Order: sequence, then C-alpha cells, then structure tokens
Amino acid sequence: MTRILFRGGRVLDPSCERDEIIDLLVEAGRVTAVGTDLRVDDAELVDASGCWVMPGFVDLHSHLREPGQEYKEDIATGGRAAVAGGFTAVACMANTQPVNDDPATTDFIIDRARQDSPARVYPVAAATRGLEGKVMTEMAALVDAGAVAFSDDGKTIMDSGVMRHVLEYSRLVGVPVITHAEDRTLVANGVMNEGAVSTRLGLPGNPALAEDVLVARDLMLAEFTEAYLHVAHVSTRGAVELIRRARDRGVHVTAEVAPHHLTLTDEAVAGYDTHAKAAPPLRSESDREACCEGLRDGTLDAIATDHAPHAQHEKELDFSEAPPGMIGLETAAAVTLELVRAGVLTPLEWVRRLSTNPARILGRAGGGLGEGQVADVTLLDPARDWIYDPAKGQSKSRNSPWAGQRLSGRVIATFVDGYRVYDVDRGPLR
Ligand SMILES: [Zn+2]
Repeated sequence: MTRILFRGGRVLDPSCERDEIIDLLVEAGRVTAVGTDLRVDDAELVDASGCWVMPGFVDLHSHLREPGQEYKEDIATGGRAAVAGGFTAVACMANTQPVNDDPATTDFIIDRARQDSPARVYPVAAATRGLEGKVMTEMAALVDAGAVAFSDDGKTIMDSGVMRHVLEYSRLVGVPVITHAEDRTLVANGVMNEGAVSTRLGLPGNPALAEDVLVARDLMLAEFTEAYLHVAHVSTRGAVELIRRARDRGVHVTAEVAPHHLTLTDEAVAGYDTHAKAAPPLRSESDREACCEGLRDGTLDAIATDHAPHAQHEKELDFSEAPPGMIGLETAAAVTLELVRAGVLTPLEWVRRLSTNPARILGRAGGGLGEGQVADVTLLDPARDWIYDPAKGQSKSRNSPWAGQRLSGRVIATFVDGYRVYDVDRGPLR
C-alpha cells in the first residue's frame, strides 16, 4: 500500500474551511488522517513546509484537441500540462475532429485518458450534432458513456428553440449545459473587443453586447426550463450582473471566468499580438474589474483555463486570420495568484474556485482533503518565482501571452489517486 505523509504544509481545504499548518496522510488513494505531528512507519515523507497543500485543481474548460488535431495537443500532452499546472482533472470540450457527439468518441477519449493522461479527463459532449446547433445529440447514451456535461463550446447555439430543448433534456440526464455565449450576428466579423482600442488599431470589434444578449437569453431559458446552466468564460460586466441577478431569483446557474479575462485587457492586443486573441475577446478594464468582483463575491464560481492550443504557423497569421485562444493549464495558478496578492481572494477562496467549486459543478470526486476523500493533491510554493517558457512546458503548443514572463507561485508536485504524477524538478512522472 502506498502511504504518503505531507508534513508541515499549510493545508487549504475549502470543503471544510480548513486553513492551517497541519500534516496530511494519504493511504491507498485516500486521505486517511489530518492532524498535528502524525507519525507513520514506512510512509513516503513529503516536506511541505513553506508550501500550500490543496485539493487538486479541476479545470472545467480545456481543449485537448484529440481526436483529430494532435498537431496542436493530445490527451497525453494535455494531461501532462494539466498536472504541471496543478490540475488533477480536466473537462475537455467537444470541438474535436470528429466532434464528440456520439458515445464511440466519448469512449475513445476516456480510453485514451486512462492509458495516457496523468490527470483525470472528463469529456464534455456536444449538445448538438456536429456542433451545428440544429439536431440534439443522444444525451442519455452520451452520459452513459461518461459525458459530464453538454456544450457546443467554440460555437453558440443560436436557435433559441434548440437551446430550450437541450436544456429540457439535460434535466432528464442530470448534467449541466455549458453555454459559450456570443451572439454570432452581433459578433459579425469582430476579432477583438469593440471599443477605443479596436478603433485605434483599426480592427473590427466584437462588442460586449454580443455576450450580454446571449447570457440574458440563456438565463431566461434556464429559468423557464428549470435546467442547470453553466456559463463558460464570462468576460463582460453586463454578463456578471445578469448572472448575479438570476442567481438572486433562484435560477440554477453557475459560471466560470478565465485567467486572461481576470488579468489582461484589450490593451494586450495593441501590438497586434495574436497570442492575445481569444473568444470571447480580452475586454476593457471595467469588464476585467467586474469579473474580479464577480469572482470575489461568488457570482463567478470557478476559474477555468479555456486552454486552447494552436500551432505556431496558425498564430503567425494576420490578427484577423489567426484562430482565437491561448494555452493556460501551466500558468493558471501563477497568473491568478495575482488576485490573492491584490487582496481580491483569500488563499482559501482562491482554492475554492480552482478546485472545490469546479468539482461540485461536475459532480465528481475531489475538491476536498477531508478523511476519506480521494487523494488528488496539489503542492504549491506561493513564493517561488519562475520564468515561463512554453518551449520547456508540457503542452505541444506555445501560444501564451505570458511567454517569457516572470511569474510568482509554482506548482511543486501533483498527486492523483495518491500517486505522484508530477514533480517540478523531474517533470511529469507518467
Ligand atoms: Zn468557448
């Protein structure tokens, strides 16, 4: 039996409001004891002094690109990028080739993950066939195969009647519908946030209104159908406010925000840097502040990466032509620790948004380190500085706006099911 004793770390466990320096014992894949001065023979000792010991992070939103676009990423490299960033589980979006819209593809992803990924992988299935927004997928069969949620992410279901039926059926199978909320007709040919910066750069704008309108529609549909709606990558002040009000009147809605929308604005596009192109786009400072406030007050439940790998030749195109998205699994923790240092979140609330809340949203194990809970553990040194070099990272792609920057806070080791799967000095161990 594998036994690991984490000694002297600051255990941050939002599931039981624990924030204290204490030992943690893991045996056979479970947490078996939390206490002071634990003594166990034949346990592997992990000196956690100076480190945060946390339930493994759970990413609600990754693009692992397999099947079909393995030149960008695959389940093995995406899984290694995940554990290098402290994520012990990732939900992967359905916009693969073929689209994950039938149980055979869901099976394939789960099989590949079991063989190749050090992180747990939870497939999100398409809500409509081929992500075309017209014909619903076979939701019950997809859930039986292991789908944890439904989403046409990357695209928006523009037909309100179809979205209504998707929400209605999702109730029968008991999983959330994740909306990528951008009204396509308002986005038009916009490639960055519509505002002063887009005018200055002469680039067509994608207005905050495109997101607000779709979030408002989906909240109304969720209220009407009494289904469970999860709003992906919230980026506007208007969307935060709409979600806050909907939750106040009892709509079953949760929401996530990406690290880039919490820390960057459309000013990052100023040099026509395609690494700053995302969907939804980087917004204004006012939107960014509203996202931080929404995260602080709990309107936004989770930080999710929207890890979106693209090859170098794709990002070297003109700003208008380059595909949107950036990688984020390996930098999410360090980048969002800025919010802790700025006093937006306490360390415990930060862990809640990276681990406890996303685990709850997916209805999966993890998110806590109480006795009996699964031993998915992330060890982080909050004071360790490092220079992020995507070329030395685990992802196949390098499209990051943080490339070459000094970041503060580093994942030291990651454990899944009680096994060490990542070590900062040795890299991924699977
Ligand atoms: Zn999306």
